[in-house]
Amino acid sequence: MTSIAVVEGDGIGHEVIPVARHVLSFLHPEYEYFLVDVGYHRWEETGCPCADRDIEALKSADAILFGAITTPPMKDYQSVVLRIRKALDLYANLRPVSGDGFDIIIVRENTEGLYSGIEVNDPHRATTLRVVTRKGTERIVRKAIDLAQRKKGLLTIGHKANVIKSDVFFRDICITEAKKAGIRFNDKYIDALALDLLQHPDRYNIVVTTNMFGDILSDVASFLVGGLGLVPSANIGEHHALFEPVHGSAPDIAGKDCANPVAAIRSAAMMLEYLGDNSGAVRIEQAIRHVISAGIKTRDLGGRAGTKEFGDAVVKALHEP
Ligand code: NAD
Repeated sequence: MTSIAVVEGDGIGHEVIPVARHVLSFLHPEYEYFLVDVGYHRWEETGCPCADRDIEALKSADAILFGAITTPPMKDYQSVVLRIRKALDLYANLRPVSGDGFDIIIVRENTEGLYSGIEVNDPHRATTLRVVTRKGTERIVRKAIDLAQRKKGLLTIGHKANVIKSDVFFRDICITEAKKAGIRFNDKYIDALALDLLQHPDRYNIVVTTNMFGDILSDVASFLVGGLGLVPSANIGEHHALFEPVHGSAPDIAGKDCANPVAAIRSAAMMLEYLGDNSGAVRIEQAIRHVISAGIKTRDLGGRAGTKEFGDAVVKALHEP
């Protein structure tokens, strides 16, 4: 039986994930769903945001539906999200942004770069090690090349090789692999790329980049489609896969029933694709579009629908032929 670990996490995760799960359960009541309770709230209650047994529970699932976890900017607090990505070796973070006339997937390296977690602090200096390995770069660019081949698209390599030597390394490995694969590719400095992506989204298909650049670029790119409430993501490794909205726990709107659940529902659709149910994924996207075009929208899109109300409308649309 297909088993799905469900992590609500913190903040609006408690609102958008039950909606996404409702949609999934409607299409796949036969899946086994089990909750894994990790997050900052667990740290506040018990001093431990994520135990080893939680990691083992996540590893036991066929796929993970994930909300978002608050990471307080405290020196001694270890990010649960980074821990899970590393423990499950979820090296490829795929963040699709599609709209009228453009179809982009940002392929972000997810386990190293500036989020290596190797940091040294003393009262006079704080340093973070930006780690770019050959193995890490080869596997992320191969994933991006594979997507570019499947979509018959252009591969763009985003980097800052003019300033950062570890990005000369990253760029050169990406170029070598792209030449070997015989695909169309170009490379751009990440700052110029960020603006150009907004001005000319139709010029991009697959964008591969390092961890923090990919994180920032995908938040920026969400502007093209109406904001963070709409963009899903897949975190893929060799043995595990986790699906989560690009947005975080949004403490400013948590508990108000106004968060947009579309990014979470689309993440569930990406999960179905991963599990082999492409038609389920297509049905979900059609239902979302149907509901939005009927004028049922959350506040971020100019509407007045609540999170749950929007989710119920999507499930209702799925009922209809
Ligand atoms: P955020 O994505 O939570 O919020 C940024 C802005 O977008 C906020 O104004 C928020 O209200 C809005 N927003 C986000 N999702 C929305 C939705 N579904 N509908 C409507 N509006 C939405 O980013 P942040 O404020 O920088 O971070 C808040 C917390 O989330 C931090 O602790 C951060 O570390 C964490 N975070 C976690 C993840 C993750 O778990 N993968 C990702 C990003 C941020």
